[in-house]
Amino acid sequence: MTRLLFWIALIILVVMAVRSKLRAAVAARGFGPDAGQGGTPAGGATRAPPRVEESERMTSCAHCGIYFPASEAVHEGGQDYCSQAHARLPASSRPD
Ligand SMILES: [Zn+2]
Repeated sequence: MTRLLFWIALIILVVMAVRSKLRAAVAARGFGPDAGQGGTPAGGATRAPPRVEESERMTSCAHCGIYFPASEAVHEGGQDYCSQAHARLPASSRPD
């Protein structure tokens, strides 16, 4: 039962992280109501193409091995973890 609750909590955390990430990506691309068209017609001859988001460094969780953006990593004892829950668990305890 505790395992089930743990996985439900983990799934909720992942869904929340993905949703916030998507919201940030949408805001960055200018789909918001106040974003306008982006290009400022102030006599600028060089219209740079919209900059694609730079790829982010990925890291893997020391506990479960899942890959995720390093900026979202939880650092604990010199290791990267995908969540606070996994940071509390021992590293690399997954079966092979
Ligand atoms: Zn993990």
